[in-house]
Amino acid sequence: MREKTYTTQQRHYMEEALFEADQAAIIGEVPIGAVIVHNGQIIGRGHNLREHGNDATLHAEVRAIEEACATLRSWRLNDCQLYVTIEPCLMCSGAIVNARIPEVFYGARDPKAGAVDSLYQTLTDDRLNHVVSVHEGLMAKDAGERMVSFFKAARKRQKAAKKVRKAAQQTER
Ligand SMILES: [Zn+2]
Repeated sequence: MREKTYTTQQRHYMEEALFEADQAAIIGEVPIGAVIVHNGQIIGRGHNLREHGNDATLHAEVRAIEEACATLRSWRLNDCQLYVTIEPCLMCSGAIVNARIPEVFYGARDPKAGAVDSLYQTLTDDRLNHVVSVHEGLMAKDAGERMVSFFKAARKRQKAAKKVRKAAQQTER
């Protein structure tokens, strides 16, 4: 943990990212949300839409970056902060570096795909021409709980579907 205390404003932005995560969960997408803030205003937001878009690149951060770039009419997101509920993956960390975002706040770590602290330290690798200031752990519990309950429900659905298939096979016999 790099930082443990956050301002009310920072918590507010993460709440907005969590709201985005809930929008993903409602439609059955993995609940990850992100917002980008510029001069105190949210100029980009997004949630995971991989399944609905049939597109591996539709992560929350990428969608928020696309919207923020469109809003600012610039690929450079100087003076912006990105808030995301879960530690960014390799693709999203790459997008953050390419967009030159100076500051990232994320909630919970992703030990299987995280590329900020867990598996790689992409955002703080000084071999790259852009280094990001990273704050982890902001409302991590809220972000993590959403993931846990989402995957728990998904496993339950899979189990139920398996039961139905098994019953159908038995009646066929
Ligand atoms: Zn990602």
